[in-house]
Amino acid sequence: DFDTDIGFKELGEKVHEMNQKNAEIDMMKEMEDYRKEYIGNVSHELKTPLFSIQGYIETLREGGVEDLNIRDKYLERIDKSVERLLNIVKDLDMINRFEAGQIELKYSTFDINYLIQEVFDLLEMDAEKHSMTMQLQTTQSQLFVFADKQRISQVLINLISNAVKYANREEAQIIVSTREGMKSIHISVEDNGMGIKPENLPRIFERFYRVESSRNRKEGGSGLGLAIVKHIMEAHKQSISVESVYLSGTKFKFKLSKPFLEKSKRTNPLLYI
Ligand code: ADP
Repeated sequence: DFDTDIGFKELGEKVHEMNQKNAEIDMMKEMEDYRKEYIGNVSHELKTPLFSIQGYIETLREGGVEDLNIRDKYLERIDKSVERLLNIVKDLDMINRFEAGQIELKYSTFDINYLIQEVFDLLEMDAEKHSMTMQLQTTQSQLFVFADKQRISQVLINLISNAVKYANREEAQIIVSTREGMKSIHISVEDNGMGIKPENLPRIFERFYRVESSRNRKEGGSGLGLAIVKHIMEAHKQSISVESVYLSGTKFKFKLSKPFLEKSKRTNPLLYI
């Protein structure tokens, strides 16, 4: 009996070991698939502008350079493609610096509602081109947060310009809401655009990940915008969440710290009275 016990125990351990090995193999396979897909995506994003540049140069060589109008038009397009490549490299560089912990935030106190309005002004032309309306819904006219203003402006730009890019109807609308919570200010960016299928949703923050239908859209975008958003939020020790209904709309939510009380007030409770 004693022997059989040991036998079972050993068998159990063996099975456990094998299961663990299989899990490891599965994980390695998954990582390898991910790596292959990632490299495929990077090369796709780089190839598109590079092939365009090559095509324009060829046209210029084949006589396009004689016609001043054509020449200028094609030089302009080359310039645009080069800019797109540079932006991809700059974005990647930023992501790498975030991951290496090399980016220090410059904290200050500012009114988030004012910043949202500034971002609306910046993106107004884009939104109008797509006959889109942008609206701020807020509980108070001013809501102060303690954060890196420039980086948060980047977060808003990336989220709102995505809402513009992935609109799919006539009365497209973006609503940015802000409200005060107990400890923080709650912010959301909501659109009534094409939405994201549940199976794609967990991956949208990955660098270079784009839903297949977005990849086919002509609006530029390299799949780095949300990866940057996530890094900026993480650097602020905050998270960002997303809810989406396919073909109906998407909502991103995040929080920012309220400004701290002055140190003297924090350490001396009598000052609260
Ligand atoms: P991209 O440069 O492609 O916009 P992002 O990292 O900003 O890259 O977004 C990743 C993908 O998530 C997009 O390609 C798109 O498929 C999807 N996505 C992001 N925002 C939205 C949105 N507001 N509505 C629908 N799909 C979105």
